[in-house]
Amino acid sequence: MALDRSFLPLALLTLFIAGGGPATAATYHTYDQLTSEFASLAAAHPTRAQRISIGHGWETVGEFGQRQIWALKISNNVDNTEGKPEIVLVGNHHAREWISVEVPLAIGHYLLENYATNPAIQELVNSKVVWIVPMLNPDGHVYSEITNRCWRKNRRDNGDGTFGVDLNRNYGYQWGLSSGSSGITSNDTYRGPSAFSELETQAFRDFLRNRSNLRGVISYHNYSQAVLRPWSYTLDFTPGNPPPPAEPMLKDISDELRARLLSVHGQVYKDCLFQADRLPSGACPSPPHYESSGEMADWIHHELNIPAFTIEVRPTSGSTWPSPHNCGGFELPESEITPTVEENLEAALRLIHYAQPGDIMIRDHASDSGAVPSSVLTSSGWNPVFWRSPDIWSDPPVPVRGETATVTARVHNLSSSPVSGVTVQIWFTDPSITTEFPSPYATLLGQGEITLPASGTNEFSALWNVPSTPNSVGDYHWCVGVVIKHPTDLPLSTQAIYSNNVAFHNFAPVEATSTAQALRFEARNTATIDMDFDVRVTTERLPPGWRVVLDPARPKVLKPGQRYLGFAQVAIPAGASAGEGIVSIHGVLMPQRPGVRRPIGSGVTYHVKYAPPDRLHPEALGLIRSHEELLKGQQRLLEKLGTVYVEVLTTRGMSDDRAVKLAEELQTLVRRQADRIDSFEEFVRRAGKPRPKQP
Ligand SMILES: [Zn+2]
Repeated sequence: MALDRSFLPLALLTLFIAGGGPATAATYHTYDQLTSEFASLAAAHPTRAQRISIGHGWETVGEFGQRQIWALKISNNVDNTEGKPEIVLVGNHHAREWISVEVPLAIGHYLLENYATNPAIQELVNSKVVWIVPMLNPDGHVYSEITNRCWRKNRRDNGDGTFGVDLNRNYGYQWGLSSGSSGITSNDTYRGPSAFSELETQAFRDFLRNRSNLRGVISYHNYSQAVLRPWSYTLDFTPGNPPPPAEPMLKDISDELRARLLSVHGQVYKDCLFQADRLPSGACPSPPHYESSGEMADWIHHELNIPAFTIEVRPTSGSTWPSPHNCGGFELPESEITPTVEENLEAALRLIHYAQPGDIMIRDHASDSGAVPSSVLTSSGWNPVFWRSPDIWSDPPVPVRGETATVTARVHNLSSSPVSGVTVQIWFTDPSITTEFPSPYATLLGQGEITLPASGTNEFSALWNVPSTPNSVGDYHWCVGVVIKHPTDLPLSTQAIYSNNVAFHNFAPVEATSTAQALRFEARNTATIDMDFDVRVTTERLPPGWRVVLDPARPKVLKPGQRYLGFAQVAIPAGASAGEGIVSIHGVLMPQRPGVRRPIGSGVTYHVKYAPPDRLHPEALGLIRSHEELLKGQQRLLEKLGTVYVEVLTTRGMSDDRAVKLAEELQTLVRRQADRIDSFEEFVRRAGKPRPKQP
């Protein structure tokens, strides 16, 4: 994708490295200096900076308790930053990598000290939250300051005479692989006794999970000059073990960061860490990195679905400088601090700029916040469930296999000025392979550029040749989704949200006819190995007192071939008045195998409506409850249908004329589609659903 290179032509202003004074030769900070410097920065910029402790290390240090993991929160009106996109810059997972403290710290200084004079920085600080966490490993850093300059790990007492866990091998995704980490306590890459066993990684994990609008993370390390991206846990990218679905986007961002890094002092930051990683052709493998399992960016990208990068800063190799303590490249001379900060400032500002609040969106339903991607589930053939939302739909609404359908997405402009150059992509995928867009494993049905009027909408359509052959698990479920983006909204904002969530969001209305409504779903393990099985339920706007209860006896593991027909019970209190809410049920299967635990998941969203039973015509209730009616006597049903449906509709306040007309349409629909409909409930549900309004 084309990236906007015109923004932020940064004049490299004089950097203020220490204590707010003019730049002199920069020096490395100790833990104590960092602690007091954050305090003075917060005091000097009370409306734009806060010093916050996000946790602490293991060691108890006299009267002060443990050493704190400090974060500096930067934004204008820093007390109230609700809804702003958040970027986190973290340093010093590894104690001896002192430069990794200086880079985020200096970026924090820059943002605060240029706010008053640089309109671009002002805009950036006003619209975002930047979190600076320069020293994640304070115990290790102090040990490196005082005792052993070359110390890498934290200072956990391993209980066997050895100390320390490699914090960047302790995260909870693909933790414990022997590739790229060690189980030996004395080893420099010791991964710890369990995932997230360390106070420092627990603190950072919880801090990240508590961010409401996190858009990106950079973790600084040294050395070797490289920008690394997920996955790091393996170098073996085969069709069965693919790179993350967001790889094209991650590569775009990484390339842009590397271009920015190069532009300042001509320093090349590679996208391969070691030459040995290179393919015989000399190119980097895709995605390129070195193998390290249980590391930060993999976990962030996997669990939080946001872009995360590791930047290995100067120098390029271990033997570039004299090394008084024999720590090689980790002992970067202080004269290198300022140029390293300058080039990394350019890259970080680029990432922060990307994290725009999105103002264009496609909605699943009227109250959709845009946080969940739109997609359509359809199956052509045996189970004609189809969802038709106001903002993405297909024609015909229930395409059969082999048929060509038109898929249309309507895009909303939430801003008060027109937006041109909005790219709309419509994707199609086998949901058992991926439910994310964009993805190398999904198929682009069409892409086009549209202009959105101020506070208005526009549409884009693409043709979809519905496959006539089954999907990878032998049935006929497909998923269609939309990605929208515009040039000032790249790529950590709208696009990232839509593409990176576990994205399967289909939609089915359910009329609750009693106070206990079962929402059905099905999971099946079609693989040849056991799969962990997990069900997640989320709700929106559920009326007070409504509860969703999962079958407590559901299996935790599905055996090969095992199928589970599950339900979630919507418990509505007796005597409740009419109400409605949204219930999403998402199933995830995870192969029980180390190394290639790629989750497979999909979900269904129900729109549950409840009206007290006495307001429904009893005959309609009987019909709706009966699955057999249609089979028993379709003719009899057709005769009754008009009357019953009119009564149902009029009970709900629709005029007789309108109800009669709808009932006639209903009968026509039944005759035409009876062969496609296997349940009367399904039929009533579909026929009663509002059609998309044309703009
Ligand atoms: Zn490191």
